[in-house]
Amino acid sequence: MKASAKSVATPQGKVSAKKPKTATPESRLAMVRRARRINRELAEIYPYAHPELDFRNPFELLVATVLSAQTTDLRVNQTTPALFAAYPTPEDMAAADPEDLEELIRPTGFFRAKSRSLLGLSQALRDNFGGEVPGRIEDLVTLPGVGRKTANVVLGNAFGVPGITVDTHFGRLVRRWKWTEQEDPEKVEAEICAIFPKSEWTMLSHRVVFHGRRICHARKPACGACPIAPLCPAYGEGEIDPEKAKKLLKYEKGGQPGQRLSPPPGYPGLPAPPLGGAPAPS
Ligand code: SF4
Repeated sequence: MKASAKSVATPQGKVSAKKPKTATPESRLAMVRRARRINRELAEIYPYAHPELDFRNPFELLVATVLSAQTTDLRVNQTTPALFAAYPTPEDMAAADPEDLEELIRPTGFFRAKSRSLLGLSQALRDNFGGEVPGRIEDLVTLPGVGRKTANVVLGNAFGVPGITVDTHFGRLVRRWKWTEQEDPEKVEAEICAIFPKSEWTMLSHRVVFHGRRICHARKPACGACPIAPLCPAYGEGEIDPEKAKKLLKYEKGGQPGQRLSPPPGYPGLPAPPLGGAPAPS
């Protein structure tokens, strides 16, 4: 699809839909400046960006992040209220009957493997860490089912330690933006960390994921309604007609529910519906 030079309507107003000139290869310096500008724009578009898993303490975030493999944050959030009511602490979960635990987490898929991870990590927390989630990456990755991605989510959001979380949305968008060509999440993490100051890492991760869920979708990115289109080398990979693009938006300010049943204060959208509950009104 070809880019047009006219303005497009976006959730934030009108932006120029001009495709950036790509005749000469972009220097590293220019890419870094463009990347930081995208981050600043995303901060304005999503000032309320936040982790989209519901949690009240580090243990709940750790468990929710393990459950989020191969499923949506929404499905995890719909599953964890009953799980945490039954097993509020690592000690409680470590003593769970495996079949009961499997049944509670069944909606998140891969429930046998996830149940083994949860039992293993709860037992390790109980036996090795005094029932507390450790706040260091080298300790977190020793827990069953916990890799760097999970550890970074927990450190960034429950302990305030800066970290980049490379999930499917993050990897897709940063490759579209030509911030990296790497596919391996650890290499992506290292390259993106080198572009931004540490203080930006955690919020950048949330903003990018917010943009991936709402506008820059995997199959049909809504380019014609994208506020950062002028900064995006992939403009035109998706729908560029502003009216058609607008229909592709999954945007809380457009009245759509978010992923969290208990969104943080200041979130401008609707809470997600509980499991089996009626969808939130639009
Ligand atoms: S929606 Fe289109 S223009 Fe916007 S970031 Fe994604 S690919 Fe780029």
